[in-house]
Amino acid sequence: MKILITESQYKVLLEQSKPSVQSVYNDIVSAVSGIGTEPDKIINSISMGIADKNEFITLNKLFKDGKTGYNSFEKMINGEFGVNNYNDVKEIFDLLIKRDINVTFGSGNQTMNYYNGGFKIDPKSLVHPLDACKTKYPQLLEQAKNWWIKWLSSPITKQKFIKKNGEKDFKKYYPQFFEAIKKLKLDYYLDNSEKSVGNKTEIDDRLQTAYAFVDGYTPEYVYVNCSLNDDDALETLVHEIQHTLYNIYHYNDWTDIGNVFTKKGESYHGYTIGGGTSLEMKDVIPQINKISTQLGISPNYLKNYFKFAKDSNTDGYACEHTESMSRIMAMRKTFNIKPGQNITYEMIKPYITGEKEHGEIGWILICWALNGFEDINLLLNKMNKLVYQDTKPTDNTRLT
Ligand SMILES: [Zn+2]
Repeated sequence: MKILITESQYKVLLEQSKPSVQSVYNDIVSAVSGIGTEPDKIINSISMGIADKNEFITLNKLFKDGKTGYNSFEKMINGEFGVNNYNDVKEIFDLLIKRDINVTFGSGNQTMNYYNGGFKIDPKSLVHPLDACKTKYPQLLEQAKNWWIKWLSSPITKQKFIKKNGEKDFKKYYPQFFEAIKKLKLDYYLDNSEKSVGNKTEIDDRLQTAYAFVDGYTPEYVYVNCSLNDDDALETLVHEIQHTLYNIYHYNDWTDIGNVFTKKGESYHGYTIGGGTSLEMKDVIPQINKISTQLGISPNYLKNYFKFAKDSNTDGYACEHTESMSRIMAMRKTFNIKPGQNITYEMIKPYITGEKEHGEIGWILICWALNGFEDINLLLNKMNKLVYQDTKPTDNTRLT
């Protein structure tokens, strides 16, 4: 029997043979000790032993013990490397740039390049992503919580919740919503980082493709993936809180949401509503032409959406009911819509034409494409209704 090494197994093999950050530091200490410096030893050791930005940050911290005679990597380079070391400094520069560390240095040219000193690492490059997360997220979580509390506290929302779900459920579940929001806190993780479980260390296997997630087992946490840089972090938190509340009570059930995100006459299967599409480009062309004329946009935008939706094979996730509900709430945060106000076509138009980009809105549009591009105003009306709005598409006047 022949067993193939998969890519992920191969990565583990490479990691096992990779020198540790500590041994890279030891190499540097020995390369700069005594008379003269051994640039090749430093370059080789970094090249082999420093895999990414985080490891370089760790390496830089080790300089604090002063064993090299300098208290940072930067100072070591400036102290040990002279005019003739241009090629060495350039090699180190290239290695660091590849590892996402921003570096600059001075150079000049007289018949050949020379190093002019001033090797400098952008201090922002030396912030560990976990530390960056801890600075960025707590205030965003507070904002997201406040946004939700406002929406839930609105008389319009309350009134419509009661009308739809009854006084009994309102009394039972509404206080639980507030409780859950109050209790929410953050936990951070990195892709493939280590976590301790009891007295063992395991590789962190939490969702690597997610910006953040919540689960029903630990409802007091929002888990944030600090390896990814989320441009819409506040909306992501609004999205996650929706999942947390939905885990307590479905104030819209699957059928309600299914009716919005499913083609007429199509039933939803399990968790997936309108998953995938049997439609081909030729089937949707008439509708694309009709809709694009109506909206006054090029049909190419819609064709691209359809092509992307079909190729990317996002079946379950694109139209999944709880995800769709979370996306609507995140969109409302993006547009800063108060309870009583509607999402309108004008708001989402720049996202259809690609003038603006937004993950949450993108997914709604992908689901729209998978369902064959129904009348967008009709879709928005139905979406607005899910968050207890009236269905008049342009009624944005009832501010509270
Ligand atoms: Zn989600």
